[in-house]
Amino acid sequence: MAAPNLSANRRKAFKIATLGSHTALQILKGAHDEGFQTICVATSNRVSLYSRFKFIDQIIEITKFSDFPKIENQLIFQNAIIIPHGSFVAYLGLGKNKKMKVAYFGNKKVLDWESDRLKQRQWLQIATVPVPKRFKKGDKIDRPVIVKAYGAAGGYGYFFAKNQKEFDTRIKNFKAREFIVQEYVIGVPLYIHYFYSPLTKTLEILSIDKRYETNVDSLGRIPSQNQQGLGIEPSFVVVGNSPLALRESLLSEAFEMGERVVSTSKDLMDGGIWGPFCLETIITPEQKFSIIEISCRIVAGTNLFVNGSPYASLYYDKEVSTGRRIAMEIKEAIRTNKLKKILN
Ligand code: ATP
Repeated sequence: MAAPNLSANRRKAFKIATLGSHTALQILKGAHDEGFQTICVATSNRVSLYSRFKFIDQIIEITKFSDFPKIENQLIFQNAIIIPHGSFVAYLGLGKNKKMKVAYFGNKKVLDWESDRLKQRQWLQIATVPVPKRFKKGDKIDRPVIVKAYGAAGGYGYFFAKNQKEFDTRIKNFKAREFIVQEYVIGVPLYIHYFYSPLTKTLEILSIDKRYETNVDSLGRIPSQNQQGLGIEPSFVVVGNSPLALRESLLSEAFEMGERVVSTSKDLMDGGIWGPFCLETIITPEQKFSIIEISCRIVAGTNLFVNGSPYASLYYDKEVSTGRRIAMEIKEAIRTNKLKKILN
């Protein structure tokens, strides 16, 4: 593993930094609660938002997210540790993420596996985690499917087809050149927020959420006979998230799936995955999990749990969000002189 780029002045205290977006408030609040100085790298239009919060010690203003590399040396000079979140790849792109020189919490080798839907699927399959059936070019579509463009996010770039005929018609108007066709699993979508500690080699479930997506989550409000003729198409645009406690009998499977994902990652990529990640699942009426995606970092649904969760309370006697859990791991690594184990 490459040595993290920490300032030569090791006596200088470490600071925790992130981009002002996505889960920045949670990450920086958690870092502050663990005693770190915090830095928010914010675009000009968001400076006033982040200035409202006292737990943010410093704001570094940039004109646009892609200017991040220009201020990297400032971060390195301040012994900052960057905590990546969903906006890093979205705004900086895979290349700039991988090239980042400032100390980065997490394993960058995971990025290549995560960003490619087929590699992701391969990882999950090797981990014997159940995934929806995938239809390859020329396969007969014998059940409802969802078609996903590569690079789709936040619920845009999909369509639903109930059979081959509908698929054949819709695909003609689909703009994406690269896409995957997946069985549409009917059930409850549930997002499990894990944290794997490479220091203690333990996996925690910190929280669970359910997304609220428009219009798919509201279609049931209009009976199907009244929908006929309206031409309503299901869409999956995320509106928000709500907390969820999983039926306790399903929890052991949730832990075991996460553990298999972690142990498989150690075979597939040097160092494997560590820190926060999320399995995006659908639970069928037979109470079977189907995993539609893995996010290898803190996810937006964890913002519900800034002051802890029913699961985090089972491990800690204080309010622990995923953001705070990251800071706790960094603090422990500093204390035990193992920072190199958790930074890239
Ligand atoms: P993210 O925003 O987390 O990056 P994404 O945009 O890549 O996600 P997915 O998570 O793959 O997209 O899917 C978006 C939504 O579509 C899900 O939240 C879920 O409601 C629905 N969905 C995706 N795949 C399936 C499936 N196989 N069966 C049923 N619903 C699905």
